[in-house]
Formats: sequence, structure tokens, C-alpha cells
Amino acid sequence: MELNWNQIDDKWRSKWHEAKDFETDPNDKPKKFITVAYPYPNSPQHIGHGRTYTLADVHSRYYRMKGYNVLFPMGFHYTGTPILGMSKRVQANDEELIEAFKNLYNVPEEKIKEFVDPVKIADYFHEEIKAGMIEMGYSIDWRREFTTIIPAYQKFIEWQFRNLKEKNLIVQGNHPVGWCPNDQNPVSQHDTLGDVEPDFTEYIVIKFNIGNEIIPVATLRPETLFGVTNLWINPKIVYKRVKVDKETWIISAECAYKLEFLNKKIEIVEDVPGSELIGKKVHSPTNENEFLILPASFVTATTGTGIVMSVPAHAPYDFQALEDIRNGNQKNIEDSLQTEVGKIQPIAIITTEGFGDIPAQNVIKKMGITNQDDPKLEDATKEIYSKEFYEGKLNSNTGEFAGKKIAFVKEEVKEWISKTGKSDIMLELTNKSVKCRCGTECVVKLLNNQWFLDYANKEWKAKAHECFESMNILPNDIRTEFFNVLDWLRERACARQHGLGTKIPWDNDWLVESLADSVIYMSFYTMAKFVNSGEILADNMSDEFFNYIFYGSGNSDTVAENAKITTDKLEEIRKEFLYFYPVDSRHSGRDLVPNHLTFFVLNHVVLFPKEHWPKEIVVNGSVMMDGKKMSKSMGNIIPLRDAIKKYGADPIRLAILISAELLQDADFNSESISGIKNKLESMYDECAKFNNSEKIGDNPEDIWIQSRLSKLILEVTESMEKMRLRESLHHILYGFDSELQWYMKRAKAKNRNDISGVLNKILSTRVSMLSPFAPHIAEEMWERLGNSEMVSKSSWPKQEEQTDDAAVQNESLLSSVMNDISNIIKVTKITPKTITIYTADNWKSKAYHKILMGVNSGETNVGIFIKELISQKETENVKKDPDFVKKILKDILSEPTELRKTKMNAGAIDENILISNELSSLIEADYGIKLQVFSENDSEKYDPKNKARMARPYKPAILIE
Ligand SMILES: [Zn+2]
Repeated sequence: MELNWNQIDDKWRSKWHEAKDFETDPNDKPKKFITVAYPYPNSPQHIGHGRTYTLADVHSRYYRMKGYNVLFPMGFHYTGTPILGMSKRVQANDEELIEAFKNLYNVPEEKIKEFVDPVKIADYFHEEIKAGMIEMGYSIDWRREFTTIIPAYQKFIEWQFRNLKEKNLIVQGNHPVGWCPNDQNPVSQHDTLGDVEPDFTEYIVIKFNIGNEIIPVATLRPETLFGVTNLWINPKIVYKRVKVDKETWIISAECAYKLEFLNKKIEIVEDVPGSELIGKKVHSPTNENEFLILPASFVTATTGTGIVMSVPAHAPYDFQALEDIRNGNQKNIEDSLQTEVGKIQPIAIITTEGFGDIPAQNVIKKMGITNQDDPKLEDATKEIYSKEFYEGKLNSNTGEFAGKKIAFVKEEVKEWISKTGKSDIMLELTNKSVKCRCGTECVVKLLNNQWFLDYANKEWKAKAHECFESMNILPNDIRTEFFNVLDWLRERACARQHGLGTKIPWDNDWLVESLADSVIYMSFYTMAKFVNSGEILADNMSDEFFNYIFYGSGNSDTVAENAKITTDKLEEIRKEFLYFYPVDSRHSGRDLVPNHLTFFVLNHVVLFPKEHWPKEIVVNGSVMMDGKKMSKSMGNIIPLRDAIKKYGADPIRLAILISAELLQDADFNSESISGIKNKLESMYDECAKFNNSEKIGDNPEDIWIQSRLSKLILEVTESMEKMRLRESLHHILYGFDSELQWYMKRAKAKNRNDISGVLNKILSTRVSMLSPFAPHIAEEMWERLGNSEMVSKSSWPKQEEQTDDAAVQNESLLSSVMNDISNIIKVTKITPKTITIYTADNWKSKAYHKILMGVNSGETNVGIFIKELISQKETENVKKDPDFVKKILKDILSEPTELRKTKMNAGAIDENILISNELSSLIEADYGIKLQVFSENDSEKYDPKNKARMARPYKPAILIE
């Protein structure tokens, strides 16, 4: 039956809402506090966002059914610059953005007019996102909702910042940051297009001289100064003569632009065409040597100074560029210069095993490189660089550094040159071309006297390390990523000039940055309820108040009086915090591992005592659309609310969850949606068929299927505990189909009409396990199954105390005999008139179980088994058929250990009675004939083909005629 999904969604959503089911207050039950990274409301949610929130919701609903008092709250992160940037674009009448609001996001026109105010943008999408979350059926306690610009939250962030500063973890200093020159603001991942975290590389600038002027080169390998033979310029670049502080430099325009952000005073004097520099000589900064300036096409204006030093022995580019001149591939070279170039010899300064005398020449030959525009030069450079860095030693021509390893000498050389005053430092973005969300190319800026979170602090890192080590991380493979992040983390700018948010409490010119005011807000959820109800006012929330709530410090009467609340209310708020904290599970997308999730732990470990450190992090991958990345330019972003209208909430939830485990990318496509809908619709149809008032029978198949059901519960529960939701869903939706088929076959063969009760039990179990995933349709199914309470309030199904191993063994014997029969018929192509089955003699069964026991305790030697069995009266018959032992041993060893255990637990089966009683009906149903069953030792048996002697336990002999 085709369902009206939206109608079902509405029906149950309003029932949950009326019953206030997800409003969670402290009680006597154990709690779980589940949080997920709150959204930044600058656009509507799309299907991709739905994944993290759905995972957290399933987690919450699962724990609720497991008997926990679960708090799942939500807030909205207004802090930062992107919304501000958008409102500026609206003010400027930016058509592209206004079009997007209109057509992509369906924002009403009169609303767009209000978007000149950034808060109106945030408010609009806040409500939009919230409506989508409600429509998805998320079990959120909305009484605790807040935005990061409400006064109470700002008080909370001020407390956080003053607290960190008192601990000397916010420091003032000069540090580099990623920077948007247009916004005049530092940028981090959330401010850049494509969410790139800006990272920087430090170059050493070495100053060569022409007369009074400086030709600076930027290098990552200062030690190679000893191997310089010439400098490179690109004749196509127009360089600039620039006053840099008190010196005159010749550099590219791009370099001059970048230096300005690194606190240099820059004054551009005039153009210097690159071609004019060719053939000029520069002086070495450290000795009397002179070097020619030569042309090379590989030199770019955007890297370093636009001028490069040439170390042909160790740099493949340099070696090849010299070769290119010698081969006459450079046109603008005069003959006299050509002769001089011919005299240049590579100077080897590093010895590395396996690289020969001139490493660059060596690698170029090996790779078959013939000109300087060959992209393989990049690989050649990397190969030499990494090998020389870790294994290379400096030669005797490097003065005081001779014999030292490169890996250790870099810093020493840097200092040595720096002492001569002939060097400088230049920082560049490592990830080339980072763009701000406003479209401007970002740069590195040295910020002076700026506020930094001292994430470079070793003690702080060690504490966070300890927390990461002790916490549960799902999936566990990602744990080392956190350790890596902690290792490279350094000081991080925590103040911004523009944007929404909270002012730095001691420096009101600055605002708290958005990745700094969103790290401990989970604790704010515990008091947000009292803020929203007006029981405590922002004006009265002082540091003293927060210190009492979070640490219990101070005198409660005084604190309460100052906060203008009763002592009882103060205690209630404190109790609320103590009850819900710590965070039991933090859900987030993988992109937040190197920033938010790490900062979340860093801030918790210094601001809260150990018992309030987070317990778990759950990280998930992204969502693809029909196998492709979702992006605006691909036009394949589906707003979540549109999708809900089209498909219904539950099919979307399942489609996202069933295609991938946590870290894998999930794929959303209409095919999987319709597959899921069909499955749910057929489950729904079943639900009306079987009533729950009927007693459950005690036929072997009834006992068996309940044992299997118990196993299903175990499997699903185990997967849920590890947040392996894809696996759980597969078990719930599809993992029981073959069991049900067998059960129905058995019942039908017996013409039973009393199976409604057991089928109802099976469906109820599956529906209740489905309900965290597909909460709306599960409620509808649950109601149809005859339940009056809601399934969201039911308990997670429990495994039976003991599964009936004998019942499991019996059914598996029956089904394997049915299989054997069908195979024989298939192979022999006969139309059966009679089927005769011979069950093994009693002694064989005894011998079987003795061998099984032996194997279980580690014995596998046939000889030992035979000797042992013959020596005992009840199995002495083995001597008539020693081959039997061999076959049995083989049978047993080919089975999985788990199955061997069930067989042990089940003990010996009376196969003769079982097959006589239970198989006849199946044979009759499938083949329309009667079944004869004989025991091997029956002297009256019908056995024309002498088959009975072949019977083995669990493998009766079969005769089909
Ligand atoms: Zn910008």
C-alpha cells in the first residue's frame, strides 16, 4: 500500500509534541547527554547536513529505549563574519546573492529586503533550519535552544575568556594568521571558500647584493647556500624596485604586496623588467663569491620573491635550467654569457647514499627529464628533498657545518645567516590560493599584539592528549588524527575585528572568534532552560554565578543574592549541570576534526574538572548525491525541507544511514529512496495482519524462530553500541527474511492457522528496533500492531535469557536435509515417487559427540580418536568403520566454531523422531509424496541400494526413487 508519508509525519510529530516527550529534566534514571555541532544559519539545511543530526537523533532515541534519561538539545551559532559579509552584499544589491535567496532558497522578497541587517539573515535561516529539524523528527528539547548572540550567552563567553586568560592560556603576541585583506579580519576554515584551513610555510629570505641594492631569494633550504652557482629570474616578469623598510629590494610585485602584511614598510619605486637583470652579477651574503643572474621559465612571481637561487647539484629544476641554456634553448642570451654559463659546475654539498656525486643529474637521468617545463621535475625535487633531509650529511665545503645531518642543521644554518644580518623571514600560505568567502585571495598576516589562544602550550596539549586517550572515539581509526592535530597545533588568533558575537571582555575593540566561542557551549544547555523561562536574567549572570554552577565555588546564599534568584533556584541550576554533565557523546562531521572537535577537548580539559571531560566523539563522513559531491555549481544541492515534502522524513533518514558506515561517504539517490519506501510499505501492510492477542505456539518451529529473533536482537544491539548503523539497519530490514521464509514454509506445510501471535511478536521486535531510525512510520506500524503506548516510549527489545540451541540445531538439520533432497533431484533429474531417509545408528551419534568434544578441547588427531573410541564399549563399533571417524572429523572441522558450540550445547538429537515428525509435512508440501524414515539399525528397513550404512549424524542418508 502506498503511504501518505507527510500525513504520517505530521500525525506523530504532533503527538510527540503534545506529550512533551523530548523535554528532559533531571530524574532518578541514569542519563545520556548527546550533542551535535550546532548549525551556522546562513542558508537552509540540505540533505548533507541531515546526516550528522540524524545520527545523533538515532543515538538519542536508542538510548531512550535502553532506559536512559536522554538530553538532546540544539543551539544556533550566529558568531562570525560570513553572515555579515552576506548582509553587505545585500546592501550592495549583489544580484547573484539575491537571486540565490529568491530562487534557490525561496526566501520571500520582503524578507530579503530585511537582510541588510545581518541578524535578520541569521534569524530567518535559524527558523528555517529549526523547522527542518522538527520535520525530520529530531527528538530535541527545544526549551534549551539559544543563539550565540543572546546576552546570557555573551556573559557565559566572557566568563570563559576571563577564565582562560587568568590561566595564561590567552596571550598577547605577534603571530601569523590567515588574513582577508578585504575584510581586514583573520580567516579560519569557516571563513574560506571550500572550508580550507589556512596553513603557512616559513621561507628564509637570503639577501644577495648588487651594489647598494638587494636581490633577495626565498628558500626552504638555507643550507644549500653553500652550493649556489647562480640566481634565476624570469625574463617575462616585470620586477619592482621597492623600498623595504630602509633597504632597496628588487622583487616581484606579488612579493611586495605580501611583505606589507608581514609588517614591512613598502614603497614601490619603479619597474625593473626581468630581462634587464640577465647577465648581472650579485655578491654572496657570506663571502666574496659573485654569481650570475640567468633566465629560467620555471620561476614564478607568486612564490617567494620571484627570484630563486640556483643549486644545480641538488635541485633538479636548477640543473635542468642550466642544461637548457647550454643546449641553446634560451633565446635572449648573448654569446659571451653563453660561454660563461658553460663554465658553471654544480657544487655538491650533501652526500646521500645512492644518489651519486650530483644527485640532481642522477635523478633527472633516471626520470628521463629533458626540459625545465617537464612536470616530472616536481617529483624529482620531492624525491631528493626528502631523502637528503633525513639521510643526507653536509660535505667538507660547508665550513663549520661539515659532517652534520641535514635534518638537524637547518635551524643552525638559519641562525648563522641571520647573525650576519643578511637574511629575513617570509611566510606564505602553504595551501596555495585560499579564498575568503567574500572572494578575496587570502594572505598571511603577522598580527601584532593580537590575542591568541596558546594552543602551542605543551602542558595544555598533554592534558588534551590524556582526554583523547581515555575517551571513546567512533570510529576508533580516527583517534590518531586527533593526536596529529594536537602535535602541529600552534597559537591561534581568537579575536576578530568584525562580525557577530561577544566582545573580548578586556579589549572591547575586538570580538571573540567563532571557533573560540563554540567549544564549551554544551554546558550552557544545562542552564539555557532557566534563561529562556526568565528565571535567571543575563544582567545577573556574573563570573561568580558561573563559578558556582560549574565548580560549586563560593557561598550559595551570597551567589544567589547577587544573581537575584533564590538559593533553591541556584541549587536547581547547579544540580541540572551536575546531572547532565559530562557530554556523553559529541557528534560532528569529519571536517571538524582538526579544529572544532580538538578545541572542544582542549577547552574542556582546562575549564572543567576531569569528571566533566567529554566521554565520546562520533565522527561521520559526508553525503554524496547520486555518487557525486554536492555543490552549488553542480546544482545538486537539495534543501532538506524540499526533500521531506517529496519523500517523507523517514525514507530520507534511512537512505542516508543505510548506504554507509560512519566515516564512509553516504550516497543519496532516488533509487535507494524507493527501495526503502517499498520495504517500509510492505512491513506496514504486514502489521495489520497479525494480532497480538493470539497465544504463541510451542511447535519446534515456533521455538526455533524465537531463538533466531533473540539472536537478531543481539546482533542489532551490538551494532548499535558501536554506532554501526548501516549494519543495524540491514539486520532490522533485511536480516530476518530467510528465517521468516523458512518459518512460513514449515507452518504452511502443517496447515497451521495459529501463527499470528508469533508473527506479531517478530514484527513488533523489528518495528521497535526500527523506531530510532524511522520514528514516524514505526509509530504508525506499532499502532497497527495493536499497541496503545507509543513505540518511542517502549523498551529496546531484550534477548531471551537463553536461546534454545536444540531448536536451532533441529531446524538447521531439517533445512539441510531439504536442501540435499532438492539438490539430488536437480542433479539426477528424476521425478520422485518415494523418498526414504536413513538416520545414523545410535553409536555413531555417541561417537560424533565425543569427537566434537575432543575437537573443542583442541584434539584433531584421527588416530587418537579411533583408539579412544574403540576402547569404550558404547563406541567400539568404530573398529568396523574407521573411515567414519575421518569423515566426521572433517565434517566438524569444516564448521565455524560458533556452530560447533551450539551443537555441543544442543547435545545429541533424536534424528529419527525429528525427521519422522517434522519433515514429512514439508516433503508432502514440496513434492506431494510420502516420506519413509528408518534408523540405520532397523532390521526391517527398506534399503534396496544399501544406503543406510552411509548415514552420519547431521547427515542422514537419502534414497530417492
Ligand atoms: Zn573576505
